[in-house]
Amino acid sequence: MAKRDYYEVLGVARNASADEIKKAYRKKAVEFHPDKNPGNQAAEEKFKEAAEAYDVLSDDQKRALYDRGGHAAIDGMDGRGGGSYGGGMDFDDILRRAGFDADDIFSQFFGGGGRRGGRQQGERGTNLRIKVKMTLEEIATGVEKKIKVKKQVSCSTCNGSGARDASSVSSCGTCRGSGMVGRVVQTPFGAMQSSTTCPTCQGAGQVIKSPCNVCKGEGKVFGEETIEVKIPAGVTNDIQLSMSGKGNAGAKGGLPGDLIISIEELEHEEFIREGQNVIYELFLNIADAALGDSVEVPTLDGKARIKIPAGTQSGKVLRLREKGLPSLQGYQRGDQLIHVNVWTPKKMNDEERKLLEKLKGMPNFQPKPEREDKGFFEKLKDIFGS
Ligand SMILES: [Zn+2]
Ligand SMILES: [Zn+2]
Repeated sequence: MAKRDYYEVLGVARNASADEIKKAYRKKAVEFHPDKNPGNQAAEEKFKEAAEAYDVLSDDQKRALYDRGGHAAIDGMDGRGGGSYGGGMDFDDILRRAGFDADDIFSQFFGGGGRRGGRQQGERGTNLRIKVKMTLEEIATGVEKKIKVKKQVSCSTCNGSGARDASSVSSCGTCRGSGMVGRVVQTPFGAMQSSTTCPTCQGAGQVIKSPCNVCKGEGKVFGEETIEVKIPAGVTNDIQLSMSGKGNAGAKGGLPGDLIISIEELEHEEFIREGQNVIYELFLNIADAALGDSVEVPTLDGKARIKIPAGTQSGKVLRLREKGLPSLQGYQRGDQLIHVNVWTPKKMNDEERKLLEKLKGMPNFQPKPEREDKGFFEKLKDIFGS
C-alpha cells in the first residue's frame, strides 16, 4: 500500500512550523492511541502513521530530505537497514519527543516497541548536546570528525548492571521479576487499566543487594568517549543532527540517550556566506578596472581565474557558477559572487599625483553613468536575490 503524504497525515500545511507539527501530532496521538481504541486495527494503523510522520517532520534534516524527494528520500534512514521508513520506530520515544509524559505512555502493547515490555532495563540515559565548529571549506565537502566527549559511560566493572557480582542480584518481590505492576491511571487518553513500571525495581525486574563499588550501583560512571561524527555537506548553524544511542549511558543497563550535534560555522578570512552562495570582495586598481585584466581569486576548493572586462565599475558583481556551497540534500551548488571594488589610492607620491592631475581633466575621465551603472538597490538584488 502506498504511503500517504506526511503533511496530509498530520493535516498541516507544507510550510507548517515545528510547533504546529507538534500540536497536530499530539492531537492525532490522543485520538488514535491504542489504549483508547482497544482492538481497533484501523486506529492503531493511524496512530503508527502519525508517529512516523511526526518522527520525520520534527527532524529538520529528515524533513528537508522528505520535502525534496518524498518517501523514497528517507527510506532506510531509521537505522534498521533497507526497506521503507519507520519499520523499527520507538513509539514511546516519539511520544516523549512530542512532550507527553513518560507515565502517560503505555505503548508496550506494541510487540517489542515499548521500553518496559518486560525487558530488564533501567532508566534511559539523558541526551548529550555538543557543538561542532566547521569552516566553510568543511561545510562545502562535508566532514568526518573524531570528537572526544565527556559523558556518562557504562561502568566497566559491573558491565553497567550496577551489581557487585551475579550473586548480589535477586528477583524483585513487588513485581515478581516482571518489572511491571497493574494500576488504574488518569492519562490524556482517558482513565486506563494498565500495567506500569514497578516502583521497587524501576522495571528492571530485579533488585541489587550489594551494589558495584565503582559506580555505587548506578551502572554508569563519568568518563569520556571518542565519537566519530559524520557531518554532511551544506549544513547551517540552525541545523541539529542527532546520533541515536551516543548520549549519556543509562542507569543499571538502561538504553543510552542520544547525542545532539549543533553546528557552529566559523568566520572565514575571505568569504561571507549568504545561503548557498559565498561572496568575495575583490579590490582592483583604477587602471586595471579601466583597461580590463585577468585576476586570480581564491575559491572554497582552490583558485580560479576570472576575466575583468575593460571599463568595469566599482560595485559590479561577477559570478563563478557552482563555486559556492551545496545544499544539504546535495542537489545543486551555489555560486561564488565576486563583488568588485575599485580601489582609490589613499596616499600618493609626487609622480603619482602629477599623472592623476594630468588625467583628471581628460574627456573620458568625466563620469557618464548609464542605466546599468546606477541603482545600488538593484546590485543588492543581484547579490542576494538569485
Ligand atoms: Zn559498576
Ligand atoms: Zn519490581
